[in-house]
Amino acid sequence: MEMQCRSKREFALKRAEELKERIKDYNDVKDTIPRGMSPFQEEKILEKKKKILSLLNATEEDWNNWKWQMKNRISNVDLLSKIIKLKDSEIEAIKKVEKKFRWAISPYYASLIDDNPLNPVKLQSVPSYCELDTANGLFDPMGEEYTNPAGSITRRYPDRLIINTTNVCAMYCRHCQRRRNIGTLDKHTPKELLKESIEYIKNNPEIRDVLITGGDPLTLSDSALDRLLEEVYSIPTVECIRLGSRTLVTMPQRITDDLINILKKYPPIYLNTHFNHPLEVTKEAKAACDKLADNGIVLGNQAVLLNGVNNDKYVMRLLNHELLKCRVRPYYIFHAKPVAGTTHFNTSIDDGIEIIEYLRGYTSGLAVPTYILNAPGGNGKTPIAPEYVISRGKNTVKIRTWEGKVLEHPNYPTKDIKI
Ligand SMILES: *Cc1c(COP(=O)(O)O)cnc(C)c1O
Ligand code: SF4
Repeated sequence: MEMQCRSKREFALKRAEELKERIKDYNDVKDTIPRGMSPFQEEKILEKKKKILSLLNATEEDWNNWKWQMKNRISNVDLLSKIIKLKDSEIEAIKKVEKKFRWAISPYYASLIDDNPLNPVKLQSVPSYCELDTANGLFDPMGEEYTNPAGSITRRYPDRLIINTTNVCAMYCRHCQRRRNIGTLDKHTPKELLKESIEYIKNNPEIRDVLITGGDPLTLSDSALDRLLEEVYSIPTVECIRLGSRTLVTMPQRITDDLINILKKYPPIYLNTHFNHPLEVTKEAKAACDKLADNGIVLGNQAVLLNGVNNDKYVMRLLNHELLKCRVRPYYIFHAKPVAGTTHFNTSIDDGIEIIEYLRGYTSGLAVPTYILNAPGGNGKTPIAPEYVISRGKNTVKIRTWEGKVLEHPNYPTKDIKI
């Protein structure tokens, strides 16, 4: 007996050694990836914040006020070049790009940019020459123009739809897949269109899940948001409301007590946000997530797979770990479509599959999102995953595990239950 126990223990110890080997590569690189909540980075961010406050002649109180953040979004290249290091060629590029695509960066988000010329926050927010290459891309690869049955609705699925509420964002992502909608001027969706959208949901009772997006719906005023949520919530066939907002990442100051008191009135509310890099998961962002989670708002993350930002298995693993610390569940990783002006961010689909391959098994299942390819022509989200089923025989299935072990498993037809 004792003999047997010892050999089981020995087996487990040997296996544990093997498992330690499986995480070595990650542990070797993870501390080299910049992380918003590392003391080193926190200090750099604080320094930059002080610089921005003095340039804008503003106070700490201003900084913490989302309306000040919105009003003072940086969209002037002279000001930007005082905040971050820019080469002459970069300044020239911004001046060219801004004639075509608008740009704006909240002071908070700008404070995350350091002197690394390829800083992932900079890549996402500062216009570059690459955007002028609009020949290689489509303006509406998701076919959204063909999925608008009424008002400002996008409908692609049987039981859920999107209401677009605005084209305003706290920062205009250079990779925005809806760049076409973002336009050149700030504009919230007119009341009549919202009314038409509400009517449509009332008349189509199979809709049980309503996504409020934009642009960024949290750029709406508290009162406008309250009114809209109240209207959607009062439709008896609507079971849940989802908000899609990047403000947790780009302007966490938006998550005020007043906003929380509004959101709390309409449960269940799910909020999906859009963190792409561990550098974005800062103390301030975490405080905003905590406030929402403490008040019963369920948080998820929809990252976009972006060349040079996060198309790296280690960066994605760290990002998802940082998110779980903030009670944000990684939900999707979107494959970036070839939208005109953003094609430099495109990666191969293989990059995405590799990322999932090195999440599943290697880390908590909670940290494994679904990799999604939006099918051409607005045909919907399509999950892409590494292959785990090798073959299906008559009464058996051959699988390979997360580590690549190939094993057979019996597979008999399901029987009826007879009592
Ligand atoms: C993404 C999307 C949804 C939500 O899809 P889920 O997979 O349920 O998150 C709903 N409607 C439209 C039009 C969408 O693009
Ligand atoms: S926050 Fe969303 S809608 Fe706004 S620019 Fe970024 S990706 Fe586009």
